[in-house]
Amino acid sequence: ASAHVVVVGGGFGGATAARYLRLHQPKLKITLVEPAARFYTCPFSNLYLAGLREWESLGHGFEALRAMGIEVVHATAQDVDAQARTVSLSNGQRLVWDKLVLSPGVDMRWGQLQGYDEAAAKLAPHAWKAGAQTQLLRRQMLAMPDGGTFVMVIPENPFRCPPGPYERAAMVAHYFQQHKPRSKILLLDAKDDFSKKPLFLQGWKALYGNMIEWVGQSDDGQVMRVDAQRLEVETAFGAVHKAQVLNVIPPQKAGFIAERAGVTDASGWVPVKGSNFESTRVASVHVIGDATIAAPMPKSGFSANTQGKVVAAAISAELQGLAPPQAAYANTCYSLIGTDYGISVAGVYRAQNEKIIEVSGSGGVSPLQGDAPFRAAEARYGAAWYAAISADIWG
Ligand code: FAD
Repeated sequence: ASAHVVVVGGGFGGATAARYLRLHQPKLKITLVEPAARFYTCPFSNLYLAGLREWESLGHGFEALRAMGIEVVHATAQDVDAQARTVSLSNGQRLVWDKLVLSPGVDMRWGQLQGYDEAAAKLAPHAWKAGAQTQLLRRQMLAMPDGGTFVMVIPENPFRCPPGPYERAAMVAHYFQQHKPRSKILLLDAKDDFSKKPLFLQGWKALYGNMIEWVGQSDDGQVMRVDAQRLEVETAFGAVHKAQVLNVIPPQKAGFIAERAGVTDASGWVPVKGSNFESTRVASVHVIGDATIAAPMPKSGFSANTQGKVVAAAISAELQGLAPPQAAYANTCYSLIGTDYGISVAGVYRAQNEKIIEVSGSGGVSPLQGDAPFRAAEARYGAAWYAAISADIWG
């Protein structure tokens, strides 16, 4: 009988893996399990908050993957039996697999931050999965009076999209500058350092003056308790901050199916082999994307995409009895600070003794002394990146 590969998750990692498996193996039986009929991307959702993007421009369907002969099942994977090599779905189906690829993204650690559970997220959205949460946050911004304070609570590492909160601050500032110029943005951060920090501080100042205030952990930025009813947060040293709009990005962990499959460790994330993202705990289960421990690679859509390609090549080679090609990974995270002001961080990675290492001399960040045409070019590159990666993944 011919082999069957089941991929769980139709986001950045999973859809890439399914598509590239098909490109390698025209006849392979591939099933992609994803509950949503349309996937909305977190990348560029901050531009939607700014009013620079229509919601539907973030949505991607699965027609192109279906047209390639990939079976797309709209259901949630509920459990994995690694011994029997099965995965059970919310629609009652049980799929038998030879290789399983999991790219479930993140789940929130509800309750880890005192007072922040699923009910609280309906009042103080995280908007860290693109969908109803993102649209709720945008409605709250539209309803906020001029002169209000937008408070963002930012977690410790590791979390999905290290530069994401700081790009969001800029995009919210862009909207406020045009529509509510007396408003403030207060960023309460559980850490002292963050991705592209000097570039963000410089860009915020250049475009938005003093509208954005960032408070790091050493200056009492770490939030310990959330009161979503009152839109208040309390810091480690007991300071209480009142918000008109409260955006809480809570601590995260691998999507729950990873734990069901037995591939997570005590950290809540998934250790993997650097050469092919196979679980170090369960053979024939490959895990990619945000769910994994892949540092120094960041939890980004770009990373998930490049990991999906490596896994597709590795599985394809193994099914043909060939040696896997040598793994190489890349990432670029673009962040938009203003309409014509982009910055980026890039890296190239490879596997060494099953660890992932950054290739020395590769990558880097945008120069601090970049001039206006340089920043404008990076804004254009960011938009081009989004169009290109979306086409690469969902067709
Ligand atoms: P996802 O893309 O989230 O896909 C996971 C999918 O799995 C989901 O569709 C989910 O429905 C499905 N799923 C989960 N559990 C199950 C289950 N049990 N059964 C079936 N399906 C399941 N990255 C960039 O590279 N560039 C950016 O500019 C960028 N901007 C960002 C901005 C924001 C505000 C945020 C929050 C993130 C941003 N990211 C960016 C990060 C990017 O969104 C993630 O790194 C990326 O989505 C990770 O891909 P993934 O496949 O791991 O998870």
